[in-house]
Amino acid sequence: MVFLDRLPTKERLQRMGLLNDCHCVLCGAAMETRNHLFFECPAASSLWTAVFSLNGLQNNLLSWNDLLAWAAAKWKGKSLLTYILKIASNALIYSLWEERNKRIFQERSITIEDLFHAIKETVGFQLRGRNINRLDPTNITLCNNWGII
Ligand SMILES: [Zn+2]
Repeated sequence: MVFLDRLPTKERLQRMGLLNDCHCVLCGAAMETRNHLFFECPAASSLWTAVFSLNGLQNNLLSWNDLLAWAAAKWKGKSLLTYILKIASNALIYSLWEERNKRIFQERSITIEDLFHAIKETVGFQLRGRNINRLDPTNITLCNNWGII
């Protein structure tokens, strides 16, 4: 997720003198930085919490750097949980960036619930038909929660 440092967030555009209005278009309440958009914004935070919750995890992370450190330490091996976390996180970040661009450039928007629905669909779609040990109780719960068939 290192490439995210180079995204043209409003904060970066303003620093380059290209922009005056720096508000986050998702909440309207804070400056749009990378950390805000993908982690601190209430929209981002509720999506992360929803993703964690479907994985049977609690969202105890306090910052974007926490998230990166946690991902580097835990997202190892080939467990179903790890695959889901990777796919869901990519989908979450992509969907926030896409939604942000739609709101800025097309004046269109969808709800956070719809964004989460799309993330869930992406996970279900990408893992459909995969060779998953469906006798494992954790995997059974994950497949049910995420709609993986
Ligand atoms: Zn925001």
